[in-house]
Amino acid sequence: MKSMIFFGAGASKSEGAPLQDELFSAYFNECSKDKDRYYNVLQDFFMKAYNLDVRNTKVFPTFEEILGLLYSAEKRRESFYFNTEEIKEGIIFSMAEILDRKFLKGSTYHNQLIEKLKKEQLLMDVIFITTNYDLLLDSAILSNGLDIDYGFKNIYKHQSECLPLYKIFGSLNWKYCDVCDNFLISSQIEDGMLKSIIKEDYACNICHNQFKSIIVPPTFYKEISNYYLNNIYHNLNKGLYEVENIIFCGYSFPDADLYIKFILKRAELYKDKPFNIIIINNYEGKLPEKIEKEKDKYKLFFNGNIHYTNHSFQDFCKEPERFIPH
Ligand SMILES: [Zn+2]
Repeated sequence: MKSMIFFGAGASKSEGAPLQDELFSAYFNECSKDKDRYYNVLQDFFMKAYNLDVRNTKVFPTFEEILGLLYSAEKRRESFYFNTEEIKEGIIFSMAEILDRKFLKGSTYHNQLIEKLKKEQLLMDVIFITTNYDLLLDSAILSNGLDIDYGFKNIYKHQSECLPLYKIFGSLNWKYCDVCDNFLISSQIEDGMLKSIIKEDYACNICHNQFKSIIVPPTFYKEISNYYLNNIYHNLNKGLYEVENIIFCGYSFPDADLYIKFILKRAELYKDKPFNIIIINNYEGKLPEKIEKEKDKYKLFFNGNIHYTNHSFQDFCKEPERFIPH
């Protein structure tokens, strides 16, 4: 019996990932001494666009909001005062930089999950989907001696066992060339963790065009036509017809992910049997009202059996065999 394991922001948060608005303040504080090439660019951007003095503020707009603004300008080919490509790369760079610094000590739970799935021989029965850009799951898979199938080509070829990991909104370590569709994974393993190395400017070795990042704010998902994302979309869709269960981990089912909802709903409508849904979204101190609201949202959306557990992502990683029907 095949299952899809769907990771939302809550999964990364359980490893101590900084919240959205903490990312920028961490970046501007920790990188102020040895400034990279984007530091001043971003400092000017926040001052001009939001009247924020980056060294003295703790409240920032979200990563997705800023990327959304930049994509709007780009998509409509309207000028937006700034060099949008440069700001976009800077924003993605700052996030990669700070996540690398936070996570290089290791990912406890993601690692435990893969280890346990391997031990219980459940790896071949799962497809991983994530809305997260970070490299926590990628690291955990590689450090357990397995390969990743990102849904477009197998990048790492150490072993025959290859796990499907579809990163539907992109990944911090992916670079592509929008001229010749060349692709690059800019990462290396350090202390057993994947580190994104996007410090240098990468130029395409085929046509010498500048490589660009593949990160998509959720609201723009359906509008981005990128060869690699299209392939992932195709594989996600195909995967939905292979699985009977979907296990949501730390995924709040946000309204912004409308296109994801469309893909899920369409698959459900065409399948012989609706999905069996398992939700593992709990965390310490979660308010009862929030739990009820979220439960209702899932129940209203899916037609099949809904099992809304009172377990956390950490519980799931400890004993995934308890939650994955097999
Ligand atoms: Zn190229």
